[in-house]
Amino acid sequence: MEHILPSYLSRRDGDLWLTEDEHDHLKVSYRIKEIVFEQKSPFQDVMILDSYSFGRMLVLDGIVQTTSMDGHIYNEMISHVPMSIHPHVKKVLIIGGGDCGAAKEICKYAGVEQIDMVEIDELVVKACREHLPKVSGRLSDSRVQFIFDDGVKFAKGKKNEYDLIIVDSSDPIGPAQVLFEKSFYQSLHTALKEDGLMVCQSQSPIFHLDVMKQTYTRISNLFKEAKMYTAVVPTYPGGLWSFTIGSKHYSSPNPSKVRDKDTHYVNEQIIQSCFALPQFLV
Ligand code: SAM
Repeated sequence: MEHILPSYLSRRDGDLWLTEDEHDHLKVSYRIKEIVFEQKSPFQDVMILDSYSFGRMLVLDGIVQTTSMDGHIYNEMISHVPMSIHPHVKKVLIIGGGDCGAAKEICKYAGVEQIDMVEIDELVVKACREHLPKVSGRLSDSRVQFIFDDGVKFAKGKKNEYDLIIVDSSDPIGPAQVLFEKSFYQSLHTALKEDGLMVCQSQSPIFHLDVMKQTYTRISNLFKEAKMYTAVVPTYPGGLWSFTIGSKHYSSPNPSKVRDKDTHYVNEQIIQSCFALPQFLV
């Protein structure tokens, strides 16, 4: 019996296509070689697809999350930039990050003693460690504690505990919607040590300007320092992507900290220049 495909997968002239529905007037399609993994979790449809243009990709409910070809850009930017600002990170909290790419980058810092990774969906971690090694690195560092829970619930109970919190969430729909709320950022502020800092992916300045601005406002109202930086991630809608830092104390990056970290995108020049924003974002 023909395999019933979810609405975002279709067959055309014998080829399999993933069509990501950005919004009413924009769809992006990827030609797919093979469905490597597919399973419905209690939270979302989890797929690992092998695409012609971007290699293997993690797709959640039909939305491309990260790919073998460009996942390192995002994962290096969300990890090494805040690590260049805080001089002595020992304890890290990652909320989301199920592809394990951000945790893999943080593990490159010998000074980090513990990484609590709070991912709501254990199936995402299982699928990525097994079928997306280019991104996950089959993460198995003993400093990483996997906690399969809701990030909002977990953060609520923490006080003065972390040097760095990374919110590596999916888009503000489905389970990740709560990770963009003011009360959540407030709980992160409480969970951070007195000189701690947080970073979150703050969506596309092209297609989600309102969410990006709202995120920046909420964080800048809470933290002594708030800074936005950008990078281009080809598989994200519109390419240009934003990240927002909220810091209780430190604000200037030390680019030399990235020097020996075996990165493929981030380097000292990128860390120095990524805070330069285009005129429409200033
Ligand atoms: N690095 C990619 C990106 O740029 O979007 C993907 C990030 S990662 C795949 C996003 C993760 O957030 C998913 O694995 C999802 O299950 C997780 N997530 C969504 N809502 C969550 C919540 N409330 N608590 C913890 N994890 C959550």
